[in-house]
Amino acid sequence: MERSGQNLLACYQCRRCAAGCPVGDMTAVTPDRLIRMVLLGEKDDALGNLLVWKCVACYTCGTRCPNSIQTSRITETLKQMAKERLVEPMTPKVASFHDAFTKSVSHFGRLSELEFMGLYEMKNAASELKQGRWKAILDEIMDQAKLGLSMIKKRRMHFSIEKIKGLSEVKGLYRKSKDQGL
Ligand code: SF4
Ligand code: SF4
Repeated sequence: MERSGQNLLACYQCRRCAAGCPVGDMTAVTPDRLIRMVLLGEKDDALGNLLVWKCVACYTCGTRCPNSIQTSRITETLKQMAKERLVEPMTPKVASFHDAFTKSVSHFGRLSELEFMGLYEMKNAASELKQGRWKAILDEIMDQAKLGLSMIKKRRMHFSIEKIKGLSEVKGLYRKSKDQGL
């Protein structure tokens, strides 16, 4: 509760969040159930369920919640807690994407597509390598190469690296969140 900044005790299980969650059907866990797991102290289930990894942070649940509980902040916190406890991510690709995205933004204050794709591919390959899945690595590289080419054609891939003006402030925020264990 402290780390996510959400008052889970305010949840009275009305399930308005569940009705609007776009990934609820495929995760088998909806925001209301995740909150209940946390409140009941079911640590393993709370850290190891698909909603934590497949939440797309659309904020639909929080908008619908009469108590303004933002489940995306809870899933984000649980992702970090799972990482700290060395719990294997249920969807390693999402974990690699997440790591690469935050690292790139911490360097430049905004996403560098080029750096992000390089970091993501390295992290993803390392994770597949652990399981000896060579074919998956090759398939992923081919898919990403196709995606990269199509982005270049549509001028959506930027090769120059742009830093934002307030980069030192962004770096400061990252440092502060690390110091606070966030
Ligand atoms: S909408 Fe809010 S109060 Fe209702 S179940 Fe979901 S989180 Fe709990
Ligand atoms: S923010 Fe996450 S949990 Fe909430 S509705 Fe969107 S996908 Fe579901």
